[in-house]
Amino acid sequence: MNPLRTGNRTIEADDETIRSALEDAHVPTLMNVLVHLTGDASIIRGDIRPESGFLADAQGGISPEDQALVRNRAFEALKALRDRGETTGTNGDGLPPAPNADLVHEMVEFATGQPLSSAYGTFLESELALDGEDGYGVSALTELPREARANFNVVVVGAGMSGLLAGIRLKEAGIPFTIVERHADVGGTWYQNTYPGCRVDSPNHTYSYSFHPTDWPQFYSSQEVLRRYFDDCATHYRLRENIQFNTDVETAAYDEERGLWRIEVRPGNGGTETLVANAVISAVGQLNRPKWPDVPGQDRYRGIAFHSTEWEHEHDLSGKKVAVIGTGASAFQFAPEVAKTAAHVTIFQRTAPWMFNAPEYHETVPDGKHWLLNQVPYYEKWYRFSLFWRMAEGILAAVRKDPGWNGGEMAISAANDEMRQLLTESMAELCGSDTELLKKIIPDYPVAGKRILIDNGNWIRALRRDNVDLVTDPIAEITETGVRTGSGAHHECDVLIYGTGFTASKFLWPMKITGRGGRTLEDQWDGDARAYLGIMVPCFPNLFCMYGPNTNIVVNGSIVFFSECGMRYILGCLKLLLERGKRTMDCRSDVHDTYNARVDEGNRNMAWGVSKAPTWYRNEKGRIAQNWPFTLLEYWNRTREPNADDYLIN
Ligand code: NAP
Repeated sequence: MNPLRTGNRTIEADDETIRSALEDAHVPTLMNVLVHLTGDASIIRGDIRPESGFLADAQGGISPEDQALVRNRAFEALKALRDRGETTGTNGDGLPPAPNADLVHEMVEFATGQPLSSAYGTFLESELALDGEDGYGVSALTELPREARANFNVVVVGAGMSGLLAGIRLKEAGIPFTIVERHADVGGTWYQNTYPGCRVDSPNHTYSYSFHPTDWPQFYSSQEVLRRYFDDCATHYRLRENIQFNTDVETAAYDEERGLWRIEVRPGNGGTETLVANAVISAVGQLNRPKWPDVPGQDRYRGIAFHSTEWEHEHDLSGKKVAVIGTGASAFQFAPEVAKTAAHVTIFQRTAPWMFNAPEYHETVPDGKHWLLNQVPYYEKWYRFSLFWRMAEGILAAVRKDPGWNGGEMAISAANDEMRQLLTESMAELCGSDTELLKKIIPDYPVAGKRILIDNGNWIRALRRDNVDLVTDPIAEITETGVRTGSGAHHECDVLIYGTGFTASKFLWPMKITGRGGRTLEDQWDGDARAYLGIMVPCFPNLFCMYGPNTNIVVNGSIVFFSECGMRYILGCLKLLLERGKRTMDCRSDVHDTYNARVDEGNRNMAWGVSKAPTWYRNEKGRIAQNWPFTLLEYWNRTREPNADDYLIN
């Protein structure tokens, strides 16, 4: 059973344990929990209310006195529950009658700190899933005859977060499938990236499958913990029997006559094999093929050199002179770790990143919070919800262009300018008296012109170390012994680490995928990948992409949410085919083109569309091919179920 949703629990803790756990509580969460525990909604109807907004502090601006008051009431309620010896279940048994729909809506508005449109209400209530409904699940599919489902089979490419999700859902739906994975184990990015300091930079309690929460040890857990989570999911949902490990998909070709896909795979032990499937789900991720910089001399270098995603752990870096190229999310995490033992670290920065201060970034979840998450009915659900909301539309409005803005090129609206000032202030505080450093690290483009990095001061503290230099002079060449910059300065190093990112725009590459009429995906896209909803590509029937073009989110939400929406849509497509007795669906070009025109227009109005700063969000044609520019609500709505009219169905 799922670790945090096993259902029955009885509170046995003594008074002191309960009181001390409540000190670690998120108070707005606790207030909604109190409604469940007591059946009395007055606590959320009084004067104590969280403020709305991404920048409100973690307790929603509730004063320490009011927090104490809420904790006391929660203590009394939990003590009473314990003293009654009541066992509570997932669906609220053992508690007062469950809140009705109107009250749930009120509780949701309370948690968000603002009135919500009914569209938002429906979305958020489904995400909250108080009734235990799996809002992204397969129930509609399992109503179809078992035989129809069993006669349709799917090949999934990749066993990372999205591929495992596809496997879980297909298994639940009773649809046969094989997952092909090039690595020796599951986990995707969390299997592949093992560099020191690697951790999730999205709050962990939302960076997990909605249907499989777990008791994370940290607010942003380390790579090893994330890898283990996906490993456990693969075991829990019995996916390993469906996975071919150490196997590369080389080609996938659509057999137009028979409406089938032939997938040529190369297992690690040699030879090739052909799999035949009714549908292919590509879950290959965007960020896994190393990108090497366009700097001359890389082959000439005689020291140790590797890319962050192919970390060579056999080298002990302590006492070494290390050069790091790049200041993206990867370097941001590994360079401070390397600096702890290296003799010297030279970091080459081409474009300074904006950084957002997250004080809990390296913090361990305190015991009290673990207790609340595990023992208190509905605490986990409301806690996850509150994080989801804070992340949800987050600062989206502050990174959208105001056409009337005339305050200069360093911002795109008044709200964006305010963000700039806030982030600048916190960076200045961390730089202290080192004003030279501050000058180097304040970006010269609007906030969110490229990915904002999450930090707790770790990066700037590392830059201020005596053994670290930040070089902003552009790299001219790599030499036999180091890095030469444009000014002619030469920086010798024993080890050169490329934190230069991934070939993110080459979606599905290097697989060769051939669709209708013998056209390849590579030719059709011509360096400018697009898909309808990031999922379907015209002329490639029954090829479904997860984390496809324009499904990356920049300032709002977690990518797990996007994959869950995408997979729900794919299940809807399979249902549509099976209930009509059809075999294939091909996205209409006009639907695809209209959709993409809207996405492009949306992206042009966002900070990353306006800014000229280099970013992996933009492809070789200059188009933003990665990002979703709209709200989570819009993607959730658009992917609820497919509209048959968008497709040519056969
Ligand atoms: P990245 O963000 O693409 O950063 C690459 C870095 O290399 C940039 O600083 C880039 O400079 C620099 N670079 C490239 N060519 C250069 C050159 N010729 N000279 C100097 N510098 C050069 O790659 P990444 O850090 O691996 O991150 C990629 C994405 O992976 C992230 O944005 C994030 O979505 C994901 N990621 C997530 C996590 C996490 O959740 N914890 C961790 C790591 C990565 P410019 O900025 O000038 O291009």
